[in-house]
Amino acid sequence: MSDCLFCKIAAGEIPSAKVYEDEVCYAFQDIAPQAPTHFLVIPREHIASVSGVNAGNSAAVAHIFEVIAKVTAEKGIESYRVVSNIGEQAGQSVPHLHFHVLAGRDMTWPPG
Ligand code: AMP
Repeated sequence: MSDCLFCKIAAGEIPSAKVYEDEVCYAFQDIAPQAPTHFLVIPREHIASVSGVNAGNSAAVAHIFEVIAKVTAEKGIESYRVVSNIGEQAGQSVPHLHFHVLAGRDMTWPPG
């Protein structure tokens, strides 16, 4: 989508600190980290949020979870949190599907 921040980051049109990439997804450091490890994993295809996942694009989401497992294992991260905010009330600020991967500090439950 031409006007989407994360589409532009995935395309390399806006700079980011790459963590991982392949033909399906792109992972990069969050610009405002909320934990010692905080990166985002996004599909290259524009999907607005989890609400936009369907039978036609869910393979990308499954792939992203494989990537999260692989990248965290490679970094030696054994305990981490994966978060995806959907909609304004939940705190979604960028309308392109993304999974936050957070680690490196104690975390509370329930989240605030
Ligand atoms: P959310 O609020 O769940 O939609 O998450 C969006 C995340 O994107 C936030 O944690 C932001 O800090 C992060 N973010 C926004 N712009 C950038 C950027 N240019 N590079 C990296 N992370 C960003």
